[in-house]
Amino acid sequence: MNNTPDSLQRFLINRAHVRGVLVKLQQSYLTIISQQHYPETIAHLLGETLVTSALLTSTIKFQGTLIMQLQNQGPLELLVAHCNQQLHIRGVAKWREDEEDFSDALEGGTLAITIAPDEGERYQGIVQLETNELAKAVETYFDQSEQLSTLIVLAADQHAAAGLLLQKLPNHLFDTADADNWADLETQLKQLYTHELLNLDNETILNRLFPDEDVIVYDPEPVVFRCTCTEERSANAIRTLEQADIDELLGIYKEITVTCEFCHHSYRFDADKVIAIKQTAN
Ligand SMILES: [Zn+2]
Repeated sequence: MNNTPDSLQRFLINRAHVRGVLVKLQQSYLTIISQQHYPETIAHLLGETLVTSALLTSTIKFQGTLIMQLQNQGPLELLVAHCNQQLHIRGVAKWREDEEDFSDALEGGTLAITIAPDEGERYQGIVQLETNELAKAVETYFDQSEQLSTLIVLAADQHAAAGLLLQKLPNHLFDTADADNWADLETQLKQLYTHELLNLDNETILNRLFPDEDVIVYDPEPVVFRCTCTEERSANAIRTLEQADIDELLGIYKEITVTCEFCHHSYRFDADKVIAIKQTAN
């Protein structure tokens, strides 16, 4: 089994009618967290959310982008992770800079999971965060929104982020044996240590977790950091500005700069471009 860094690998535990996904992020995660001076806890949470966005994308059939958004009134204000069907990920977090303790960053907030298809309407599910464990919150989301029994383990440190998802196959009639198998898998999954998930290769993890199962493993797919920002989308930020603010900015700077918060690329609009954008508003 090829253990590519930054990969998503699906597998199937045949006997238990369970599908699984393993996601490992290194380079993409390090690139994303290097964009800002993230406090360690926020960086790890961003890593876990990026991993989750990839795990979820692989379980839902659609063409488009899956968006995870954590919001809270506390020290962590907002955390966003995007993953599309090509497994291009990006993410960003905002926190209160006067805070130092982010250990309770999630509890009391909300987790919104949005499926944004390239064409058609968005679908959004929201769960209240009653825990500081992202994995638990996502399991609740699947329970409530999708009625799919799901187990998730997540981990992140300063070098990597990783996650494993197990899910009962949808549209399958379960018998008692399946329920027993599921309980066994849950017990086995609890034995997996964070450092093992982060550092062991996929084959070793699966052998250690499911030694007695017939596990079908698919080829790993690469996951990469790639921002989907464009000049055209950045122009939308200008459309939302009041004319008085535009005049003031152009008066001072002769141009308006819109910086993408995901990749820090700056798009510059001079007065002519701004007029053209305003004319095409709505
Ligand atoms: Zn960007």
